[in-house]
Amino acid sequence: MRKLLIPLFAALAVLVSCAEKKPAVPLYGWQGMGKNPDLNEVRAQFENWKSHGFTGVCIQASVEDTPAIAKIAHELGLEYHAWKPCMLQGGKPHDWYCVNRLGQSADEFPAYVNYYKALDPAHPEVQDFIVSMIKEYAAIPEVDYVQLDYIRYVDAILARGLWDKYGLDFSNGPYPAADCCYCERCVSEFKELTGIDILQAEDPQAVPEWTAFRCKKVTELVTKICDAVHAMGKKVSADVFPGPDSHAVPMVRQQWNEWPIDMAFPMNYNDFYLEPAEWLAEITAEEVKAVDGKMPVISGLFICHDWQRKAEIKDPEGHGLLPSEIATAVKGSLDAGAAGICLFTPGSMTEEHWAELDKVLLAK
Ligand SMILES: [Zn+2]
Repeated sequence: MRKLLIPLFAALAVLVSCAEKKPAVPLYGWQGMGKNPDLNEVRAQFENWKSHGFTGVCIQASVEDTPAIAKIAHELGLEYHAWKPCMLQGGKPHDWYCVNRLGQSADEFPAYVNYYKALDPAHPEVQDFIVSMIKEYAAIPEVDYVQLDYIRYVDAILARGLWDKYGLDFSNGPYPAADCCYCERCVSEFKELTGIDILQAEDPQAVPEWTAFRCKKVTELVTKICDAVHAMGKKVSADVFPGPDSHAVPMVRQQWNEWPIDMAFPMNYNDFYLEPAEWLAEITAEEVKAVDGKMPVISGLFICHDWQRKAEIKDPEGHGLLPSEIATAVKGSLDAGAAGICLFTPGSMTEEHWAELDKVLLAK
């Protein structure tokens, strides 16, 4: 009987997978949703994405709206990642905020844009706050993964494509007004650990222990979050800068290959780095090598919505992949070992983008 059962199950499994038209490659998209979204629209959107091979969705929504949205995702067989920005928070106690190299708090002097009010990941109360905020999402039954975003320091160095936009030049290293955290607690803890007074260092960037210290602070926070979420039987994914050593570590102190997360979503946004679509292969190769099999790497692609006018758009945040670049970006990522693809955003995809994506993924 046993001998008969196994081939029967195998045959059934083949039938089921054929019926579901399961795509060969995990495919996700990031999408933010306003308060009280129209659930019929959400369902129609998810159905559309699913017809293009989506296996999961990464949705930023309030903790109140998430249960209904996640339920729809599950009804359609989509994995649900509750996408949640972490460190940018307004209205918290003053001493929770990072202090830059000029001694200014991000509370009063946010770098680049006025919503860049970044909390200090090394502050114990900040850690408790972030962990409990994430646990609220993990407690929602249909949430499979809580997806950590902005789990990092402020960009000490901006991506090359953004220098002109902000009128800044980072060729000599970090921007002192964005380089954090030089609060009393961080400075004295670092001195105790290493004997180095970072406030006296001529060039803090040239002190490798200081970079490592801050990477470790983010890693410690992520570890606390993972411990809490895993204890609830849920998983953790994270949106991270590319690399990590080439970009994430020097820019935002994310040594994310060392994090105990279950899935990494590096934002391999080539246009931000003034790189062509071919760069996806190169950067994904670094990422896959860095994680060394510890977690799947889902390559994040930035899509240019208004692609026919791309040449006229000044702001690089309006750039992204053209339909004609989709195949290069997707194949480059997958051939380099990415376990899947994530689109920022499915809402930016035009008919032409979808046609190219279908060709490369559904044909696989
Ligand atoms: Zn600090």
